Amino acid sequence: MTISAAIQKKLLRLGIRNTLDLLLHLPLRYEDETHLFPIGDAPHGQTVQVEGVIVHNEVVLRPRRQLVCQIKDNSGMVTMRLLNFYASQIKTYAAGNRVRLLGEIRNGFFGMEMVHPKCRIVHEGEALSEAMTPVYPTTAGLTQKILGKLIRQSLHDAQAQQLLTDTLPESMIEQYGLIGFQQSLMCLHHPPPEVSIETLQARTHPAWQRIKFDELLAQQLSMRMHYRQRRSRSAPALAPKHRLTQHFLDRLPFALTAAQRKACTEIGRDLAAPFPMQRLLQGDVGSGKTIVAALAALQAIENGFQAAIMAPTEILAEQHYRKLLTWFEPLQIRVAWLSGSQKKAHKRAMLDEMASGAAQLIVGTHAIFQEQVTFHRLGLAVIDEQHRFGVQQRLALRLKGAQLDQVPHQLMMSATPIPRTLSMSYFADLDVSVIDELPPGRSPIVTKLIAGNRRDEIVARIQHVCQEGKQVYWVCPLIEKSETLQLQTAMDTYETLCAIFSELTVGLVHGRLSATEKNDTMARFKQGEIQLLVATTVIEVGVDVPSASLMVIENAERMGLSQLHQLRGRVGRGSEASICILMFQQPLSEVARKRLKIIFEHTDGFEIARQDLQLRGPGEFLGARQSGIPMLRFADQEQDGDLIAAAQTAADALLDDYPALAQQHIARWLGDKTEYLRV
Ligand code: ADP
Ligand code: MG
Repeated sequence: MTISAAIQKKLLRLGIRNTLDLLLHLPLRYEDETHLFPIGDAPHGQTVQVEGVIVHNEVVLRPRRQLVCQIKDNSGMVTMRLLNFYASQIKTYAAGNRVRLLGEIRNGFFGMEMVHPKCRIVHEGEALSEAMTPVYPTTAGLTQKILGKLIRQSLHDAQAQQLLTDTLPESMIEQYGLIGFQQSLMCLHHPPPEVSIETLQARTHPAWQRIKFDELLAQQLSMRMHYRQRRSRSAPALAPKHRLTQHFLDRLPFALTAAQRKACTEIGRDLAAPFPMQRLLQGDVGSGKTIVAALAALQAIENGFQAAIMAPTEILAEQHYRKLLTWFEPLQIRVAWLSGSQKKAHKRAMLDEMASGAAQLIVGTHAIFQEQVTFHRLGLAVIDEQHRFGVQQRLALRLKGAQLDQVPHQLMMSATPIPRTLSMSYFADLDVSVIDELPPGRSPIVTKLIAGNRRDEIVARIQHVCQEGKQVYWVCPLIEKSETLQLQTAMDTYETLCAIFSELTVGLVHGRLSATEKNDTMARFKQGEIQLLVATTVIEVGVDVPSASLMVIENAERMGLSQLHQLRGRVGRGSEASICILMFQQPLSEVARKRLKIIFEHTDGFEIARQDLQLRGPGEFLGARQSGIPMLRFADQEQDGDLIAAAQTAADALLDDYPALAQQHIARWLGDKTEYLRV
């Protein structure tokens, strides 16, 4: 089939580069031109096709210039109104001509009318369409007619070329109750008249189910292949020895929750295996992921290997360092600290310890995987708040620890919960552990929404809370466009609050402070020396000060849901009843109003994430993670959860028993998009 260069250019705009792309360009919806309704009996409120003779035609000027034609059959009369029309159409639609109209009939300005129906001249007794008419997504200058014709032609071409042979074995087609691939495409591009148009429109028809299944299967196949490739590499087998870990647990002032224990067991099992673990530990803010990471590190250390824990910000890395120091020093474990802003000599000493193996645990920021860093024997790398790191950074850390033919185990932690269906799709190349309960004794956080002009009430509350010996965070507005402006706002707020609360000690942290200054302020806040801490969103992740029980967030309407959830998670960490006040400026945009409603009504991170996904769609939701992963075109993350689960099982079966078909399937659906940046 030859296609002109001009048309090819337009096809490219639709992402169509070859015959297969063209065949997978599926209809948005269908029009039913296989039936004719009598004008008088045609149902209202749905698209119908009617036919009649034009009895009158006239250009009227009111309410605006338009062409109005009366069309009549034996059963009744309907008015066609064309608001935009060519002069030539006045003649085409002259009285006496017979027309076929497709559109919705409603009771309008001129009685029963159809506004801008699809209209064409026919002769009496002209045959009806034999198939439903597909309507394709298209682009300027490419008509439905041309596009439809190209697709129909290639459907027959392709048959000859064997492009559409099935990539699923017969047994699997049967097992999952599917229909053939070629049959599906035939049906979707050229549905026979007996097909229910509703199931086609709703995409529940078996032909659609098969296409969606195939799309999801391709996604699962490529993920599972990465998963298997990783398992074919080797890693140190770090069997649990229960020496250090038991010692550690015995000294802990509390018991692990059931969910923490389960996660530990899963991780412990992975570490003992001779291939690299790639596990994602998901747990809501405050669910206690750090201890789980510490136990994993101990398992590596008791096997004579090093462990590294990396955090995305200096504040968080420093906090981890201090905490792990108090946990590990009594066990005679040497903990090293590495950050970008460290003094040269100190850094040198740390690097030497890492290289010699003297340092058993290394805590730090992304400085950990910079060039001059070498490990003696890295067995485990933990990445906290993994979604904050870019794909490149995670890859760098993995390569860093690789020695000879062994790669270290990797544990990623995230407090950004991912809804289940999304996680099945996008984390199918990882093993996932979930901590789904909070430690006991936490009192729930009460969230309040307060308009920005009611600052006085908030001031009074802060006074009250601090008098009771508790502490307060004041989070300054996020100003995305300008860091300088954000800094300025933070300093202004700090000064204002210092003046108001002259009897309190007020502190300030923001991104421009040196690491030492930041850590110093955080330490003073933690010790209770500072009562009111003014902060930018640098405190967003991980910061743990259990005695802080009130948080005020200014201009909450500017922040995203996961950011608000993370920030709010800084309070409610102790047994005190905690409050989070969200201040907002009016007027609120529609989306901002929805976001504030969600964060106000829910505290469960998974539920917030689910609603966030609905609000934003998977592309934006996944952010950096999804770079390189093609989004789904046909299947729907929420609605097709059952198909996702089926595709996951099918992917493993296909890889095991029909590897050649698996390859063929991936080539068909992903083509050159298979080179994912997966780490
Ligand atoms: P996150 O999952 O947000 O990283 P952290 O690891 O910072 O949470 O833990 C939050 C707080 O809960 C810490 O102060 C930690 O010591 C405490 N914690 C963790 N596990 C338990 C538990 N099982 N019982 C009581 N407190 C716990
Ligand atoms: Mg944490």
